[in-house]
Formats: sequence, C-alpha cells, structure tokens
Amino acid sequence: MRRQISSCSIFVSLALFAIAPAAQAQSPASPDWPVLQHEAIEKLSDYVRVNTTNPPGNEIRAADWYAKIFKAEGIPYEIAESAPGRGNIVARLKGSGTEPAIILVNHMDVVPVSRSHWTVDPFAGIVRDGYLWGRGSIDMKSLGIVELLTFLELKRLNVPLRRDVIFLGTADEEAGGIYGAGWVVKNRPQWIKGAGFMLTEGAGSLADDSGKAIYFGVGPTEKTPAWLRLIATGRSGHASIPIPDSAPNHLIAALDKLRQYRPPLELTPPVEAMLKSHAPYEQEPWRTRLADPQKFLAEPDAYDLLEKRPDILARLTNTISITSLQGSNKTNIIPSEARAELDCRLLPSWTIDRWVAQIGSIINDPAIRIEVILNFPPAVSSTDTPLFASIEKAVHELDPGAGVVQSVDAGFTDSHYFRDKGIVSYGFEPFALMEEDDERVHGDNERIPVKNYTDGVHLFWNIVYDFASAK
Ligand SMILES: [Zn+2]
Repeated sequence: MRRQISSCSIFVSLALFAIAPAAQAQSPASPDWPVLQHEAIEKLSDYVRVNTTNPPGNEIRAADWYAKIFKAEGIPYEIAESAPGRGNIVARLKGSGTEPAIILVNHMDVVPVSRSHWTVDPFAGIVRDGYLWGRGSIDMKSLGIVELLTFLELKRLNVPLRRDVIFLGTADEEAGGIYGAGWVVKNRPQWIKGAGFMLTEGAGSLADDSGKAIYFGVGPTEKTPAWLRLIATGRSGHASIPIPDSAPNHLIAALDKLRQYRPPLELTPPVEAMLKSHAPYEQEPWRTRLADPQKFLAEPDAYDLLEKRPDILARLTNTISITSLQGSNKTNIIPSEARAELDCRLLPSWTIDRWVAQIGSIINDPAIRIEVILNFPPAVSSTDTPLFASIEKAVHELDPGAGVVQSVDAGFTDSHYFRDKGIVSYGFEPFALMEEDDERVHGDNERIPVKNYTDGVHLFWNIVYDFASAK
C-alpha cells in the first residue's frame, strides 16, 4: 500500500524531527529543516508554473525566475542566451580554492504534455494526496530546487568552503543540450572554470511500494546516442510499372536486415559494476545471474533470457530503434530517394566510426549512404573519488537501510558535456521513487511524493556540505 501523506507539512515536520539531531551532530552548520522543506515545496510549486516546454523552451523565463531569488539573497549571477529565449544561468559561491569546484547542474526545460490525458493542470504545481503534481516535478525541476536550496543555505549560513560551489541552470537538455550545456561549455568556459566535479540528474533511485528507499543510484557513465539517417537512392518512375531496385525497396531491405540483427553482448566494466551492485535488489533467478555476470553471459541461452529483460539487455549491447520513415509524397510516384532515421545507443566502448562501419557492413548495399545526425564521444567518470565517498556517507547516515548502487543510464543527460572536459560527473537523484511514479517521467500525470522529495533536500545538503565545506 502506498504511504498515506494527507497533510504534507505536518508529516514532513514530524519526519524531520526524528532525523534532525543526527544531522546536527555531523553538520556544525545545519539548516532549519522544517522551514527549509516547507520552502522546498513552495518553490517547486512556483517553479512548475514557469512553462518551459521544449520546443520551444523559453528557458529565459526560468533563468529570470532564478535570478529574482539570487538577487533577493544577494548572490551575483549571470544569464546568457544561446539563442533568443534560450536562457542559461550561473551563480558561484567562492571557497578557499584548495580543492576543485563542484557544479550543481539542472536543466530548466521540460518535455511537452498531452493536456487531455492529465487529471490536473500540468503547470499549476498542485500539492494533493501527498504528491506535488506537474510537468517537471520529477524531470528535473525538483532536483533544480534541491540544488538551489543547498546553494542558498550555504550562503545563508555563511558556511566556509574549501571549494567553489557553482549553480548552473541549462536550456535544451530534452533536445540534446546544444543550446544549453553544450553551448555553455563552449561559449562560457569561465562559468565552469576550476571545476573538477559535477552532479546532475540520472541513474535513478528506487523506493519500495511503501515509498521507503531501497537504493540510491550513482551514474558515472551513460550510453551515447548515435542517431543515423539512411538515404537510399534509385531510379524514379510512374508507380504503374514497378521498379524492383527502387530507393524504397533498397531501404526496406536494409531496415529488415537491421531489424533482425542481434548486436553482440559486451560486458563493459561500468556495466559489470552496475549489474553486481543491483543484484541484491533483484528476485531469483536474476539475483544469481547478475551477481556473476561473466558466468551468466557464458551460458548458451543468455541472450534469449536477456530478451525478456530489455532493461538489462540495453546495457549489454548497442541498440537500434527504427524511428522515422520517408519516401514519396505521392502514391503513384516511385521516388528517387527514400530515407529512414535510426536512434542507436552505443556502449561506452564504441566510437561512432566503428558503429557506422558496422551498420554499413550489415546493410551491405552501395545504394544506401549513412549520415550521422547526433553523436557524443563516450566517457566514463571514476567512482573512486571523494564525491562518491560523500554520497555513500550521506546515504548511510540518513537512510541506513538503503544501498548505493552504480548505474549506467540507457539514455543520456547533460553529463557528457562535462565529462568531455575531464570533470568527474555523476547522475544522482536524492529522492527514491516507486516504479509507478518513475514511469510517469515524460508521460502523463508526472508527480513527486512530497516526503521523498523533502527528504532529498536533506540528503543532498549533507552530500554537498560534506564535500565542499572547510574542515
Ligand atoms: Zn531530465
């Protein structure tokens, strides 16, 4: 049964009362938790009301919203538009500089909604039945507010820092980040100067059916997109006389080969670490299989079994999804060109050149050429870092029953732009979510459990405080 949270502010106050002494013992500077968590709810409701649906984005609205808060708190900030309306915002708290800076990154755009499928107004920020509802309530305006409040409290409490703490709100993540994080690292290098670490969304943290955290995920890498366009060419003509080697026929034959292709299984070190750390949270027989992935993958029926677990298979292979098809716009004309688009996702061990060569050899047809639409180079951050240690420490202190697991995201986030610059970057979400809530991300009736969200404020503070305060 789902945990009942009828009155969020009362419930939150009681829950926090129970954990506050431990937090005070380990943090000489400690926020007033009931007050801060009340602020977290109010600010997230208000932020959800800032409509930053991408396309078109209009993230300048969110940047202005943050700017008003920084201004009131006496914190200098800078806004830059990568294109009209595509705002990005940065603010920095200075530390002693003895350690590299950490960037708290949050994208400010959200994906579109199908309003008719929602039971509440997706841009009203409603709190009801223990949830805060709205587009972005999980992805990722909630983490944006958690980062903001951590940042503000460090300033409000005058916490001496051994490293700079940078708040960075980006545009355009949902469309690949070209106008957001990608633009910032290229055009505003001073914004991230001195940074050695970064935290943003990703990895995912799981709660059981009662809302209690099972584990918190940390993502040191993710699969990279290899979006491809296939272009087939051939003789055009009137459709009353078929052309056997027409462009559409070539294209269909190629797509059928790709549809039947089984990409080989490949166990990369980050995925092996991920499967082993997830094994204890699986039911049998998967618990045993994932505990020793090498042994399992050597079994002759491993691939067949994995096809029933596409979530695991996607971490062990490159993937191909055929997503877009284009031929003639007239029924009775055979076109001279036909196109398809493929959303492929690559393991960290693959380069785009090797993958394009692989696709080319599967298709094996000179009438088809392959274009790359989008790709990022693969990169992996080490997990043997003081930031990873601070995350583990904070989780074990605040939620001793929960584990910390490594994850390799099947999708991608803003992280790769920072990893490419040599910055240790983790996907980390401080609120554990039930599967049912997690599945609403990018879907209808997105909502976040208030209790888990506000507990996340506390957890995230402890991590950043431990990692950045002067000792
Ligand atoms: Zn997101």
